[in-house]
Amino acid sequence: MKITESKIIPKKLRDFILEVCNEKKIEVPNLKFPNARRTTYTTDDQLIKIGKYYREAGGKILTYAVLHELTHHIVDQTKMEYPEMVKNHGEEFSNTLFDLARRYYKNPKYYGWKRDYVSVRKAYEKRIKEVK
Ligand SMILES: [Zn+2]
Repeated sequence: MKITESKIIPKKLRDFILEVCNEKKIEVPNLKFPNARRTTYTTDDQLIKIGKYYREAGGKILTYAVLHELTHHIVDQTKMEYPEMVKNHGEEFSNTLFDLARRYYKNPKYYGWKRDYVSVRKAYEKRIKEVK
C-alpha cells in the first residue's frame, strides 16, 4: 500500500507527503505496519515500516516517525551525497529533515528532535541558531 492510502496516517501528513514527492519527482513511498517495535526504511522496495509502538501512539509520535522515514526516502531517491552517510543520519539527512519539519510545522521546533538520533538533534541545534 502507498503511504498516502493509509487512513492511519493523518490526512494533513498524507497530503504533505504527496506534495513533497510530486515536487521532487519521486514515487510516494510504500507503507507497512509490522508487529515489530522499530520503524525503518528500505531502499529496494521504497518501503517505510512503522512499528507497533508508533502506530498505537498515533498523533505526534506517529508523525515524527513518518517524517523521519520520509527523509530517508527523499535522501535515498534523490541520490544526494553518499549512501553510507544517509544510513548514518549524516548532514544531508539532517538538513533534509530540518527543511521538511520547517515546512510541515511552519516552525521546525515542533518536530520531536529530542526523540531522534544524537547526530540529527545536534545538527538541528546548530542550524536553528543560524536560521534565527
Ligand atoms: Zn533513520
